[in-house]
Amino acid sequence: MKAVRMHGYGGVDQLYYEEADEPRVAQPDEVVVRLKAAAINHIDIWNRMGATGIALEMPHILGADGAGIIVEVGENVANVKAGDAVCLYPPSGCGRCEFCLTDRDFMCIRLRALGERLEGTYAQFVRLPAQNCFPMPAGFTFEEAAAFPLVFITLWRMLITNAKLKPGETMLIIGIGGGVASASLQVAKKVGAHVIVTSGSDEKLERARKLGADHGVNHRKQDFTRVVTQVTEGRGVDVVLDCVAGEVWQKSLAALATGGRLVTCGATAGAQPIDDLTAIFSKHLKIYGSTLGSREEFRQLLSFLNGAGIKPIVDIVFPLKEAAAAQTYLEEGRQFGKVVLRIPD
Ligand SMILES: [Zn+2]
Repeated sequence: MKAVRMHGYGGVDQLYYEEADEPRVAQPDEVVVRLKAAAINHIDIWNRMGATGIALEMPHILGADGAGIIVEVGENVANVKAGDAVCLYPPSGCGRCEFCLTDRDFMCIRLRALGERLEGTYAQFVRLPAQNCFPMPAGFTFEEAAAFPLVFITLWRMLITNAKLKPGETMLIIGIGGGVASASLQVAKKVGAHVIVTSGSDEKLERARKLGADHGVNHRKQDFTRVVTQVTEGRGVDVVLDCVAGEVWQKSLAALATGGRLVTCGATAGAQPIDDLTAIFSKHLKIYGSTLGSREEFRQLLSFLNGAGIKPIVDIVFPLKEAAAAQTYLEEGRQFGKVVLRIPD
């Protein structure tokens, strides 16, 4: 099969479009999927650079997100069959630890995620546990079905399970261009929240307004805490999504109302921000960190997507062989929504 494999840690020059062995079912609970599309995530880039602390076996296939058609099933598989069009739930656990035994295998310390300890989706075929395959949401193309799982399961756990975002609440989203941020805007609007977004790009703010953002702040021109104060008449927002951190972190805490919740799943501008404990205790703030989410949350999400009429925003589609260019596009922060790979037949 054709695949994009990395042969060592480093830059995009470590990615090779080449021939690789086609995976076959090896365990009775596994399936093989013929992929039609894959999506790029920041985690792919960190894995490529060797920045995640996970020792990857080389050559290695990156990619946590994908969608395609089941072509082979193990003898114990009952939830899917050959010919089914599926999207992929990325994480899989050891099956034995306290987290795996309580539907929290995304917290497993021996976590096997697609593109990390499992071979990923930058390929024509992928092998994975059958329980990680779910029916594609109605009306989704393969590109859309590959674009949503990782970002939407992450935001679903953050906004719905953890922060319990409610209709009528006010939410601030930092850095609206990213995949999680733009998808959070879509979900928050559907929930009925009032949403303020920030970006350094007027073009991205305009796209956010078209998706329903109530206010946009260009952080290069305006201090967003001041705008939040004006918009909320001094009260602050109920929920902040801050996956940027760095210099922004303290402002995010300052923007929260008493009893507010901050959710984070990343720190693209720096993971050791100066904290403000006074704001945290005096305003009774809650801070939720998370990555990914459970199969039950994924099931809720699929049900929500089927009913809500939301589709992920696909910014640009590259052919599989141009995975290096696709990763560069993401690294340069040019995207609004998802960067997707189309897999050749
Ligand atoms: Zn486990």
